[in-house]
Amino acid sequence: MRFTDFKFHPNLLEGIEASNYETATPVQEQVIPPILEGRDVIASAQTGTGKTAAFLLPVMDRLLQNHVDGQTGALIVVPTRELAIQISQHIEGLSYFTHLSSIAIYGGSGGDNFIAEKKALQNGADIIVCTPGRMIAHLNMGYVNMKGLQFLVLDEADRMLDMGFLDDITKIIKTLPAKRQNLLFSATMPEKIRQLAKRILHHPAEINIAIAKPPEKVVQKAFVVYEPQKLPLIKKLLKETPYKNALVFCSRKQTVKQLTRELKHGKINVAEIHSDLEQAERENVLGAFTAGRIPVMVATDILSRGIDIDTIDLVINYDVPGDGEDYVHRIGRTARAEADGVAYTLVGEKEQNKFASIEKLIDKEVEKGLVPQELGPVPAYSPRYKNSRSGPKRRFYRNPNSHKK
Ligand code: AMP
Repeated sequence: MRFTDFKFHPNLLEGIEASNYETATPVQEQVIPPILEGRDVIASAQTGTGKTAAFLLPVMDRLLQNHVDGQTGALIVVPTRELAIQISQHIEGLSYFTHLSSIAIYGGSGGDNFIAEKKALQNGADIIVCTPGRMIAHLNMGYVNMKGLQFLVLDEADRMLDMGFLDDITKIIKTLPAKRQNLLFSATMPEKIRQLAKRILHHPAEINIAIAKPPEKVVQKAFVVYEPQKLPLIKKLLKETPYKNALVFCSRKQTVKQLTRELKHGKINVAEIHSDLEQAERENVLGAFTAGRIPVMVATDILSRGIDIDTIDLVINYDVPGDGEDYVHRIGRTARAEADGVAYTLVGEKEQNKFASIEKLIDKEVEKGLVPQELGPVPAYSPRYKNSRSGPKRRFYRNPNSHKK
């Protein structure tokens, strides 16, 4: 399904295009329509499924239609400051071509931020993302104005309850207008989440996105390296691992082209496939690959879904896919039918957190492979795990008054 099918505001569609989203993910396909219809929603969806955009896009679309000056339109409550920052960045990207204003309100930031937060809470920002504790601190001061609130989003609700935020959430909800649309997202649906949902949602649409797990017989390994070590490592892996057909994935077609060039220089018989090739060229390349004339193919995610070549016995992720589902799809290209398969992922320094969320999503700690000594020292694998409460003290405040033209 394409985003144009949702009939979003043109400025929002521009932001979607600029974010390089082409088609809606399954959670987006299922969650966006009921939100646009004005229904409450309860969705079980994990990080990596595209769940953030699934609630942001319809909420932003509605706010573009029904913006009320001086009123906060949507309140998104999240468990951690990391998630608040991440969602703010998502909002910034998607709303780039709109006049929507937003602010992230979370604990641990200093006095200057408190003043900016207070101003937004008094004068209204279209979207406020907050952690419960910090919001309560503001509520206790008595100036928070939520009169015009149209949407309440509880994201990662199960984690919020695990972290003991139930009372804070209840207090926050008491300050909101009774007539509003409620959206609850949770990775898991334990009984306590069902209870919470019963209290705050009205005849919700229930959406359950179960993510596929990679086939058991795929041997997964990750190599934790510095970015410049990726090229010598992949050359070595392609020279020393036995395979019939190896499929190498890169997230960007630019990287596909560069890597293919480098591998060719390294005397590896390789072809590339991405959206810049005409259909006929793609078919030629695929034919040569399937017939074994070209044993290695470097591809974008264009090949991560659907293709079924049962001689692929090695998949290498040259970078960590942005989305857990893409990881599952990519490595699912190997070990088709009865064959066994091997899937390697090269995890650059800045990709460790992304890889850790994938491990969480597939509920498995992927074995870390030994990087040959000749490539020099490698970084430790120390992702900032999701439940860490420390993190960057970055702020994001998109001018809350920007809609006042
Ligand atoms: P989330 O599950 O919301 O944490 O999203 C996981 C990643 O998927 C983020 O990096 C998003 O930017 C990305 N994403 C969300 N929706 C799409 C889409 N329709 N197409 C491609 N990437 C997406």
